Amino acid sequence: MQELAPDSVSVLGMKVSVFQSYDVAVAFVNERIRRGKKTFCVAMNPEKVYKATRNPQLQTVLSSADMRICDGIGISLASMLLHRQYIPRCTGIDLFLKLVRLCAEQNLKIFVLGASPEVNQAGCISLLKSYPGLQIAGQHHGYFEDSQPIIESIRQSGADLLFVAMGSPRQEFWIAEHLPELSVSFCMGIGGSLDVVSGSAKRAPAAFRALGAEWLYRLLSQPGRLRRQAALPVFAYDVLKSLWQARPIS
Ligand code: UDP
Repeated sequence: MQELAPDSVSVLGMKVSVFQSYDVAVAFVNERIRRGKKTFCVAMNPEKVYKATRNPQLQTVLSSADMRICDGIGISLASMLLHRQYIPRCTGIDLFLKLVRLCAEQNLKIFVLGASPEVNQAGCISLLKSYPGLQIAGQHHGYFEDSQPIIESIRQSGADLLFVAMGSPRQEFWIAEHLPELSVSFCMGIGGSLDVVSGSAKRAPAAFRALGAEWLYRLLSQPGRLRRQAALPVFAYDVLKSLWQARPIS
């Protein structure tokens, strides 16, 4: 069974793991948990790559991850343009839910950190309803100053997997800084997934998801994100520039 990091493709200097399906990604995580290999998973999207190309600290943190899943369609498209290789999507929220299912089936315990206290609570209740048998060993909202008590409570919970919903890149920095002190086998940032799971935010409708246009739905439903979404055209420009620079000289 595969336990080493899968093949990866470089998009603007950031490596993205190629998982042919969610089943392969879940089996990869499961195998690493079984073998006691600590795994840091990052969901890669154009916004994160854009930020990483301008923030060396973030680039270091993302590069330190054991798996970087292809969360955004922009990453698949960039890989097609740059390398003629399609990376199937493996979105953060879908992998999160599939791993929660795995945990419910295999008696693995999770810790849910992040979001507002209300969203965290509602998200956990919804997960327990959807995945009978799931053991939530602990939970905490994501608005805290001192990480030490949180780390202690994660340690004492005996959780196997930790999901951190504190937005990007805050969650990735937090995980990279504290994972060595934690005894969880797997940790992943899940951004706004608890907002969706709790019902406080709507997931993009199936048609938007099928087209890979979740970003458009989020922009239409939360126009306040316009500034963040401004990273997308710059990412596209960077990809085209890189393609142009790599062209053979005739
Ligand atoms: N959040 C948090 N602590 C913070 C900032 C944000 O727990 O200090 C939570 C916020 O309540 C929300 C999630 O992180 O539930 C951020 O969601 P967003 O959609 O911004 O995630 P991203 O787009 O970065 O994946």
